[in-house]
Amino acid sequence: MTEPDDDVRLDEQQAAAVRYLVAHADQVGRASGREPMREALLLLLTRGRWPRRHGWPVVPRLGTPWQDTVSAERHGWRCRTAYLPGAADMVFEVDYQICRRCRLGWVEQPYTLPRYQRRGLARAGLAALRVDHPGLTWHTLGQHLSEGRAFWIAAGQDVPGGYRPRAMCPHVPSG
Ligand SMILES: [Zn+2]
Repeated sequence: MTEPDDDVRLDEQQAAAVRYLVAHADQVGRASGREPMREALLLLLTRGRWPRRHGWPVVPRLGTPWQDTVSAERHGWRCRTAYLPGAADMVFEVDYQICRRCRLGWVEQPYTLPRYQRRGLARAGLAALRVDHPGLTWHTLGQHLSEGRAFWIAAGQDVPGGYRPRAMCPHVPSG
């Protein structure tokens, strides 16, 4: 493991904010994405800071350290995202899908902004998903690219399923 270069080193405030996110991955704001009235209420509560839109659907910004919303990338999937206080952009996000019937979970494309990497955000985010959905066996969808392989081997330690690639079951949208 290499140290980040000086020019990407976080200042103390940023580093402390990341430590807070890692330690409080259970503080999750949730928006179902299925209830229009609730979405409208959230829009009101967040004072119209109706947030970044990259395609469909609109993903609300809930103002909590972590949030759980519909995925903007995969139809019918959820997205777990971490934000620094006051920051407009996420520092970590991962899409996920679960099937309670098969007791399976999938995560796809966890992404940490480069300067915030190697500080445990991905590990904390994935662990929080497992806590929220106990008893599942966890997988990824695609084959792991070479640069991601080491990450998944480490992340999958002691995790049922080990985040090994597995095709979607027929009960949930494949995105
Ligand atoms: Zn299933």
